[in-house]
Amino acid sequence: MSILIYAESAEGKLKKVAFEAASYAKKIADSLGTTVTAVAINTNNAAELGNYGVNKVLKVTNDKLVNFNAKAYADIMKQAAEKETAKIIVIPSTTDGNYLAPLVAVNVNAGFASNVVALPVSTSPFQVKRTAFSNKAFNITEINTDIKVIGLAKNSFGLTENPTTTSEEDFTPSLNDADFAVKVTQVDKATGKVAIADAEIVVSAGRGLKGPENWGMVEELASVLGAATACSKPVSDMDWRPHSEHVGQTGKPVAANLYIAIGISGAIQHIAGINASKVKVVINTDPEAPFFKVADYGIVGDAFEVVPKLIEKLKAFKTNNA
Ligand code: FAD
Repeated sequence: MSILIYAESAEGKLKKVAFEAASYAKKIADSLGTTVTAVAINTNNAAELGNYGVNKVLKVTNDKLVNFNAKAYADIMKQAAEKETAKIIVIPSTTDGNYLAPLVAVNVNAGFASNVVALPVSTSPFQVKRTAFSNKAFNITEINTDIKVIGLAKNSFGLTENPTTTSEEDFTPSLNDADFAVKVTQVDKATGKVAIADAEIVVSAGRGLKGPENWGMVEELASVLGAATACSKPVSDMDWRPHSEHVGQTGKPVAANLYIAIGISGAIQHIAGINASKVKVVINTDPEAPFFKVADYGIVGDAFEVVPKLIEKLKAFKTNNA
């Protein structure tokens, strides 16, 4: 028996969440005296999984699987789980992973817990800690099935290097027409920008910026920090910014290391989508703005004065430390 992970990738390159899943699975494997096997689909750098404790990579290469396909990927995970007699399957709780994990659970008749944020509290009975109520609370969930599927929350466990000898094995699962009943016909991508989902740092702004013409400083701050730009819902509703930047409960979730909120009040629906972020910095003229209650650092001030000064200081810091 081995612990199986889904090593998520994009355009042939493993994502950070794949290494987080590997780090996490390795810890559980050590405590249970077993090994970690990863499934990597159309991935060029699978060997890097060995840095994070993966013993074996099942490499799937198939042109029909270039775009994420939940049904086909779930069938692959099932066949890999059977091959490895996996009792624990770890899948990152990403946009793709949240489609994939329940399908895998159904395929292998497993219990599933999503948004798990820590190592199992206990392995017998099998209990995991996960977030609940849009990250406002935690609960302990017990999985009683023989096979368990864990959805690992992004940026929750972190990376643990654990150099391991990794074997790579070509894996050719049998797929049928039903696996490809849903086809991706077109993929439109924002180019030249850091994607919110993958960003370590997100610079986000709200209605406090008064109008779309004032976003230059937000983009400049993001560029200095190598960050993605985001916004509150009304900002995208008013077409000040594209809908792809809308974050919050009804927008994209953010689990960045640093989230900077400029001129955003901190309504519950906004906070719900971003509070998995590690460090939150708030810039707002109103000292009573609700966002300050969840902020790690707060600046009470006018964004039009504070942000340019911040950019200036960061640029100077970068020059002095180049
Ligand atoms: P405002 O509430 O208008 O706040 C602007 C802030 O800017 C204020 O705090 C003000 O003090 C500050 N400010 C003003 N001038 C300056 C200045 N010069 N410098 C610095 N600060 C300044 N919202 C989301 O964001 N994401 C969601 O996913 C989402 N989902 C929703 C779902 C539902 C069902 C509902 C009902 C609402 C949802 N909302 C969502 C909307 C949410 O309730 C708030 O209305 C919204 O987040 C407010 O956006 P804001 O903070 O940009 O604007």
